[in-house]
Amino acid sequence: MRRTFSLHLMAASVAAAAVTLLGCGLLLAYASTLEPTANWGRLLFSVGGWVLLLLPVILIVAYLWAARVTKPLASLDSAMQKLKDGAYGVEVNEPGLGGLGQTFNALSHALHQRTEELNLINAQLMQAEKLGALGEITAGLAHEVRNPMVGIVGFAQLGDETTDLDEAKEFFRLIDADAQRANGILQHLLDFARPSEIETEVLDVNPMVASAVRLCAHQLQLGGIRVDTHYADGLPKIKGNSNQLRQVLLNLLLNAGQAMEEHPERRVFITTQRHEKGVEISVRDTGPGIAPEATGRIFDTFFTTKPRGKGTGLGLSVSKSIIDAHQGSIQVESEPGKGANFLVRLPAAS
Ligand code: ADP
Repeated sequence: MRRTFSLHLMAASVAAAAVTLLGCGLLLAYASTLEPTANWGRLLFSVGGWVLLLLPVILIVAYLWAARVTKPLASLDSAMQKLKDGAYGVEVNEPGLGGLGQTFNALSHALHQRTEELNLINAQLMQAEKLGALGEITAGLAHEVRNPMVGIVGFAQLGDETTDLDEAKEFFRLIDADAQRANGILQHLLDFARPSEIETEVLDVNPMVASAVRLCAHQLQLGGIRVDTHYADGLPKIKGNSNQLRQVLLNLLLNAGQAMEEHPERRVFITTQRHEKGVEISVRDTGPGIAPEATGRIFDTFFTTKPRGKGTGLGLSVSKSIIDAHQGSIQVESEPGKGANFLVRLPAAS
């Protein structure tokens, strides 16, 4: 509205200036026909009076004329404004604009069509990305679950063949551990898909950590990894969900195991200690460590450096959301070539 008014005003000023110039020209032409003895003072006075009288009329006429002349331009201006605000396809129907209007309409339609095409391509890309991510998760999940399944089937067959009761019991224990692992992996995915309200209890950290270590000790030993534990005495109790916290530790331990697969020195140190107003659990390995450029990203969902089918990039992001829900923190200290140290800090139960 304001822009249209100023457009009119601009045109009106130009018109008024043109009329004034024309008037001056006529006055000069008239003056050149007068006698040199003519009374110039009176002449200028009477002309000035006429000008003052006619000026408002000239201005009103000029404004009305300008509004008529600039109307098509004002319509074009408002259509361009709408186009700028994203109303692709907007048209301007002002016969006064002639070819300019048609060109604008063609441009606006082309922009509309191109935007629709881009939106479609964008939607297809997002769909493809989602499917790709889903495929990777499924592949990772199948791989992760198949490992304990192979263990379960193998130990069950061995148990079937043995006549030694102690050996059979050991096979049962291993089957139980593998079944728990498979369950843990599926639980991971469920937690990721639907982070639920956690049921909490006041618990001792050391037995919880020890049970997580026991669950994957066999797996780590198979990989030639030596596990060292040191649990501090007299730690304050914490409030949390032991299953979820165990999941976090299992994830850290299995990650440490995977990181050291190709490494000559394979050791994991698990320690608990008091930390400020709570407890700190550390899982340190002697693996290759984490590259500085990856350190800031390892807790991101789907960030993985593992080959296709081996990593899903969910473990640490799920772990972080679990620890966040416990009002704790999880961080990593690492130098390339010097292993990684994951520190989980949990507040004491009040
Ligand atoms: P995933 O194990 O499926 O890759 P995670 O979220 O558990 O997903 O881990 C993300 C990435 O963090 C891993 O791909 C790896 O690059 C890095 N990482 C995690 N733990 C360790 C570790 N102990 N040593 C070296 N790198 C690690």
